[in-house]
Amino acid sequence: MNRPLQVTVLGATGSIGLSTLDVIARHPDRYAVFALTGFSRLAELRALCLVHRPRFAVAADEAQARALQQQLREDGLTTQVMSGEGGLSEVAAHPETDVVMAAIVGAAGLKPTLAAVQSGKRVLLANKEALVMSGALFMRALRDSGAVLLPIDSEHNAIFQCLPSAYSQGLGSVGVRRILLTASGGPFREFAPERLIDVTPEQACAHPNWSMGRKISVDSASMMNKGLELIEACWLFDAHPNQVEVVIHPQSVIHSMVDYVDGSVLAQLGNPDMRTPIAHALAWPERIESGVSALDLLQIGRLDFQAPDDSRFPCLQLARQSAENGGTAPAMLNAANEVAVEAFLNRRIRFTEIASIIDDVLNREAPVAVGCLEDVLAADRCARERAGQWLGRNGR
Ligand code: NAD
Ligand code: MG
Repeated sequence: MNRPLQVTVLGATGSIGLSTLDVIARHPDRYAVFALTGFSRLAELRALCLVHRPRFAVAADEAQARALQQQLREDGLTTQVMSGEGGLSEVAAHPETDVVMAAIVGAAGLKPTLAAVQSGKRVLLANKEALVMSGALFMRALRDSGAVLLPIDSEHNAIFQCLPSAYSQGLGSVGVRRILLTASGGPFREFAPERLIDVTPEQACAHPNWSMGRKISVDSASMMNKGLELIEACWLFDAHPNQVEVVIHPQSVIHSMVDYVDGSVLAQLGNPDMRTPIAHALAWPERIESGVSALDLLQIGRLDFQAPDDSRFPCLQLARQSAENGGTAPAMLNAANEVAVEAFLNRRIRFTEIASIIDDVLNREAPVAVGCLEDVLAADRCARERAGQWLGRNGR
């Protein structure tokens, strides 16, 4: 047996990070934890270090890193603690790490995820925002470095599983007609438009099928999550936006489908538990136990499908338009959304104003072509500034 693969978990204290560590702990012969990173939850990061005994840990800033280093020494661990963006990129690109789970939420994950791709790792991509922002650079770095990118987002993992390995030569050449991206519809799927005005962060974060971080939960409620996933699918599978169709499927049992020119539709099914795509990506092309129970179709009984309602959930259309406009449009969409979601979680704006802010930002700034990372970062800064101006103009 070869030595265990060394895994760096970026965003270890989050929902995906914890699920990843759960799967890894089931297979100590195959995987060892090389580095763990956290941001605000220092006590949780310490507890994870005690269990997994990584070579490195990365905390938010120097003060937190010093505090954690002291605690870990007292705990008798030799873990070395680093800090900030530099520390994140260092563990992501470290020559002794084989696999990087990119599970930081939002634009903060862009640089370390890119660092992992550029240094040719097996990259397990949960941090969809990184790809949405910088898809062209990301995919170019992937080709140049020979890194292996495996999608963790359940939909993209499902699509990957339903495609033949030659898909990278073009969807048309392997007979794909459309990608059918399934969406649960979120907690407000059946809410009338007038009820959406008054929904709270607590209601938005109570997803019917999945337990996730707060930002992605709000994105799921607004359908921006599906919009980001549409853009993610275009980059991962080299698809045109009009080849990706969104289908509401409230049970979240089918995780997405691929429709072929001969009329065949392939689907991947499973219980809604992220340990399935995580285990798939860790072991690919092999299969390992994930801890997820077998799917009981008789218990589920039925699978329903509906068309998405763009008038109640305008974020999906905003994302589709950004995908079509290209250039820096998706980075601006993402940044405006991050500012808006945070403002909603802090009760500064109404749920329905998330889309208003994004629409305003996209109308004020024309996208430009992306040549280098600075183009993406500049678009991100500009959109955050514009979104801040919206908040100011509207007295929030
Ligand atoms: P989460 O909020 O539970 O965890 C986020 C992690 O990122 C935490 O470890 C946090 O410490 C870290 N983090 C936050 N801000 C940071 C910063 N500025 N610098 C460094 N680290 C920072 O989120 P999650 O639900 O685990 O989602 C993580 C990513 O995975 C997101 O991009 C999300 O869209 C994607 N994803 C999640 C799920 C899910 O089921 N949770 C499914 C598909 C995709
Ligand atoms: Mg998803």
